[in-house]
Amino acid sequence: MAKQVVRRRGQRQVEDVKGNREPADLDVLQSLVTEMLLALGEKPGRNGLLKTPERVAKAFAFMTQGYHRDIDHLLNGALFPIEYDEMVIVKDIDFFSMCEHHLLPFYGRVHVGYLPNKKVVGLSKIPRIVDVFARRLQVQERLTVQIAETLKSKLNAHGVGVVVEARHLCMMMRGVEKQNTIAVSSSMLGVFRSQPQTRVEFLKLIHQGSVGDSD
Ligand SMILES: [Zn+2]
Repeated sequence: MAKQVVRRRGQRQVEDVKGNREPADLDVLQSLVTEMLLALGEKPGRNGLLKTPERVAKAFAFMTQGYHRDIDHLLNGALFPIEYDEMVIVKDIDFFSMCEHHLLPFYGRVHVGYLPNKKVVGLSKIPRIVDVFARRLQVQERLTVQIAETLKSKLNAHGVGVVVEARHLCMMMRGVEKQNTIAVSSSMLGVFRSQPQTRVEFLKLIHQGSVGDSD
């Protein structure tokens, strides 16, 4: 019974990545975690595991809350008209996401740049946009493109560049077991794609030392 519910919900999620969806079903998640513990040969009734299904259900609901966040609502009142036409960069944005192939975390940093076209977005909104897309089941490439395309369309920017650097626990703990590998993905839109000098400036700026670094 519970499995059927999950399967139906799962199919809908594949097609709809826009958000505004119903909240995670904590009851179904809890019973599935209990089943998983049993399947792993564990005893869900033992002391240390008594509250585990509830904790895991809540943790997964938190880590996938981006499905229910609405970008327009988030940006409401945070777009400002401006005559500034130089590149805006927000770099080293920490993120934590979940790989959709293994349900294991991948995490790292996002660097965002854009060339405004008569409007800018409040700087604090950019990390929140990153969270909207990171807090879903993801692959790194899609996360990168979703952040870039959202900024491009909501700001009508001349161009957007997004670089994501991430470590994947599914590579570190299992599989190839490469502990020091960092996967890098990028999405360049508008002038960041068509003008090499804009792209080079962006890449140079995101790799410069941060404010407060000793060297
Ligand atoms: Zn994976």
